[in-house]
Amino acid sequence: MIIFFGIKKKNHLYDAYVVRECPKCGRETNHQLLLQKRAFTIFFLPLIPLGTKKYLVCTECKTPYKVKKFPSASEISRTPINHMPGEQPME
Ligand SMILES: [Zn+2]
Repeated sequence: MIIFFGIKKKNHLYDAYVVRECPKCGRETNHQLLLQKRAFTIFFLPLIPLGTKKYLVCTECKTPYKVKKFPSASEISRTPINHMPGEQPME
């Protein structure tokens, strides 16, 4: 009998933005919050949750990078923030 198993990753990209300096492109840009849920699958059914990973995705160069926790709710905007370099993000 052949058993198909693997790891399934499910990404959820939120309409939530925060201004950060991107480690890849070096610019201060909007970053979108990405939550990735991982699960161990048998016959393509997710059976054992393996936890979640949190990422910020640069909206300019599209590079995701892992963060330990998402920014606080007061830092997050529902729409991309118009941000000029050197200017403090609006609250
Ligand atoms: Zn970038």
